[in-house]
Amino acid sequence: MAHSATAADTKPWRDPAAKPFIKIRNITKKFGDFTAVDNVSLDIFKGELFCLLGGSGCGKSTLLRMMSGFETPTSGTIEIDGQDMARVSPYNRPTNMMFQSYALFPHMSVEKNIAYGLLRQGMAKPQAMVKVAEMLKLVKLEKFASRKPHQLSGGQKQRVALARSLVKQPKLLLLDEPLGALDKKLREETQFELINIQETLGVTFIVVTHDQEEAMTLSTRIGVMNEGIITQIGEPTEIYERPATRFVADFIGSVNLFEGTVDMAAPDAMRVKTDSVGPILVNPVPGLTQGQKVTVALRPEKITLSRTQPSGNNILHGMVEDVAYMGNLSIYRVRLDNGNLLKVTRSNRLAEQEPISWDQEIWGQWSNAAGVVLTS
Ligand code: ATP
Repeated sequence: MAHSATAADTKPWRDPAAKPFIKIRNITKKFGDFTAVDNVSLDIFKGELFCLLGGSGCGKSTLLRMMSGFETPTSGTIEIDGQDMARVSPYNRPTNMMFQSYALFPHMSVEKNIAYGLLRQGMAKPQAMVKVAEMLKLVKLEKFASRKPHQLSGGQKQRVALARSLVKQPKLLLLDEPLGALDKKLREETQFELINIQETLGVTFIVVTHDQEEAMTLSTRIGVMNEGIITQIGEPTEIYERPATRFVADFIGSVNLFEGTVDMAAPDAMRVKTDSVGPILVNPVPGLTQGQKVTVALRPEKITLSRTQPSGNNILHGMVEDVAYMGNLSIYRVRLDNGNLLKVTRSNRLAEQEPISWDQEIWGQWSNAAGVVLTS
């Protein structure tokens, strides 16, 4: 199967005229008094690998189940491929759902597990077996066709479940924590396999995950959920570099957050007065005025450490309190002169030129562009 242009290449969400494949409007789900999904609106485009990302209980699985039809919305609409799903049963939707437990039939071989859905819908066996063989090849399990699920590793079971969900060629595959049962290394390898398979088939994937690294690796775009609400929708770099709220900045990756007040707003620079680290210069943010309460988010890798005092703006002085060696990089915790802590990461390539260790006097500096100003 040849690789065709995917949503990842063409980025239809950047085009206001592009027609969404899934149109979710004002979807709410209540369980008694409790609102699990709160007035969510969302467009997803054909060929996307869209991740719903959030902590436990934020409503991401409930939102996915409403798309699959296994859960009925309290209010709002879901349209898939131009068709309103309100009265369409799960089995008549152009969707398939892959569950976290994989739900494989234990007594059936890999081949039979994959063929099951096709045979049940009345496809002749020879024809079904051709499709099964294609799927086995796609998920690299040709050699395991006659094994039973208990004779497979976690990663292999995951691939059988994926093949079984894809064999009926759904237009939309919904995956709830698809890699949840795998250990870290296998998880990372499988993430790339999942992307390859998705790109090869051009099927739209919506993946629910609580793992932010996984969402960053997999997604064309991420919807970050918190307490039933989608807080931000964006490409991984957008979510990381320009988080819209403190919650998103803190949830995705590591961050230093400094609360303060805008005390100078000039056309070329803005200054935020903070209690924790004093004044911070940032790039001007349109619409913000003097006196406004804000938070400055600063990623640890945007801070440059040096053993000699640098010149310029945004400089802090302190002592290295902790160093965590991570192989490719190190994480430093710097105790500032005023007692506050600053998190800094640094590539270990730099350590060869200027090693930095515990109890060392140190300066940290960052550019005006590094600080992201948040108002909520
Ligand atoms: P997790 O990652 O832990 O699965 P999630 O974000 O997928 O979390 P959901 O399963 O969507 O969370 O659940 C959202 C909230 O709705 C939770 O607080 C949960 O307890 C509640 N909830 C889910 N299903 C029901 C139900 N059938 N009845 C009552 N409350 C429910």
